[in-house]
Amino acid sequence: HATPLFADVAGDIDVSFEFFPPKTEKMEETLWESIETLSPLNPRFVSVTYGAGGSTRERTHNTVARIARETAIPAAAHVTCVAATKDEIDRIADDYWNAGVRHIVALRGDPPTAGEKYATHPGGYENAADLVAGLTRLHPFEISVAAYPECHPDSPHAAADLDNLKRKIDNGATRAITQFFFEPDTFFRFRDDAAKAGIEAEIVPGIMPVMNYASVVRMSGMCGTDVPGWMERLFEGLDDRPAARQLVSATLAAELSRRLYAGGVRQFHFYTLNRAELAYAICHLLGVRPQEKSA
Ligand code: FAD
Repeated sequence: HATPLFADVAGDIDVSFEFFPPKTEKMEETLWESIETLSPLNPRFVSVTYGAGGSTRERTHNTVARIARETAIPAAAHVTCVAATKDEIDRIADDYWNAGVRHIVALRGDPPTAGEKYATHPGGYENAADLVAGLTRLHPFEISVAAYPECHPDSPHAAADLDNLKRKIDNGATRAITQFFFEPDTFFRFRDDAAKAGIEAEIVPGIMPVMNYASVVRMSGMCGTDVPGWMERLFEGLDDRPAARQLVSATLAAELSRRLYAGGVRQFHFYTLNRAELAYAICHLLGVRPQEKSA
């Protein structure tokens, strides 16, 4: 007998959602609607990204602080090492701690000018591992870091990249969130390699719904993510059909997530692009339902 369709999803998964800080009042409204829509799904945390070159420092802080203040969802702030001294970053971290934020996604960040080689800011943290060590000295934060199933473009090879991930964990991070990827085996291979390298922290797949195929291809090129040939065929002819594209996008992300689920994954991190419905639908297909708030 074949397994009945959708009988396998038991709702036994944990999700987290990533947002970016809004630039305009309209975007701010959309973001808050998205948080309101997604919060009944009881995410483990929601995180807010930090713009390249620290350009969104204020907006990231305001958004995370507001989530911490106005919702019951644990808020996580992304912090990068770019364009700031250790002292400046330590002050940012203090401000987060004082605003009740207990979770940091600690990153190196990318060079302020695309295509340039990364250079440590004078007096700054050298890389994400160094930042993790600095943060843990300041406050007992929960710390998540980035991981790259297809190897970070600056790494000479996958083993060096895994060594780097291990350093971040050894320095105090407890969770790795992956760069997006499109084939389940990419994740499973990485999970196996990480286990062999002695990495015991949880590795959470980062799921990116394809809202705009051309921009996903561009981003994938920059971060070394493989875009399988079948994806181009999947999104072919949908440029002028946004509604159909959303359905295809949700189907693709849900299918990837379901394969990961079948392979034992129970934690998922969704890059929401500040759009709730797509992430909501994918979670729904994975068996996640709104939970009653206990009085
Ligand atoms: P690191 O872990 O420091 O690694 C960077 C590279 O340097 C790797 O190739 C590593 O192997 C190598 N390396 C580090 N130390 C050494 C060493 N001692 N010797 C040799 N090699 C070394 N960017 C933003 O600007 N804002 C965000 O909010 C943001 N959020 C992200 C969230 C997630 C989940 C992910 C996956 C990425 C995010 N990024 C963000 C992108 C990230 O900043 C870039 O990918 C950046 O290029 C690397 O950051 P990292 O923290 O992985 O760096």
